[in-house]
Amino acid sequence: MTTARSCGSCSLCCKVMAVSAIPKGRGVWCPHASQTGAGCAIYADRPAPCRNWSCVWVSGHPALLEADRPDKTGVVANRDGARQISLHESRSGALEGVAELVNRLVAAGETVSLIPVAGRPTAVGAEADEARRRLARLEKLRR
Ligand code: SF4
Ligand code: SF4
Repeated sequence: MTTARSCGSCSLCCKVMAVSAIPKGRGVWCPHASQTGAGCAIYADRPAPCRNWSCVWVSGHPALLEADRPDKTGVVANRDGARQISLHESRSGALEGVAELVNRLVAAGETVSLIPVAGRPTAVGAEADEARRRLARLEKLRR
């Protein structure tokens, strides 16, 4: 995996994202994660989904600034498709603090799905209707 930026002391994806290979669900810390910036306790042996995945910020999306690092915003950005990004909230209310970030992504041509800790996901951008249909399908699968 080649990344444009460094995670530094961030490890927020190890809480926010689900990893079935562990297994762990969304929004709960992985038992192998340091929550204080020390990284992954099984880094050399971490499962393939952890090896192969990187967030949109660390991949170097030009619409995301250095200050948008996930542990600072409380929001992890996942690439869902060619022009589709989902923003996953790590703590309630974090999405309210990233309105400008969302505007930058939409101005760059991305459709952005907003996934709160609680409540209904939504989407903004040129392909928002398609994104909302996909989110509704995912919601049904999770029930
Ligand atoms: S959320 Fe992004 S920056 Fe933070 S640890 Fe995961 S990949 Fe690195
Ligand atoms: S195994 Fe390591 S990289 Fe994967 S979620 Fe857990 S702490 Fe993060």
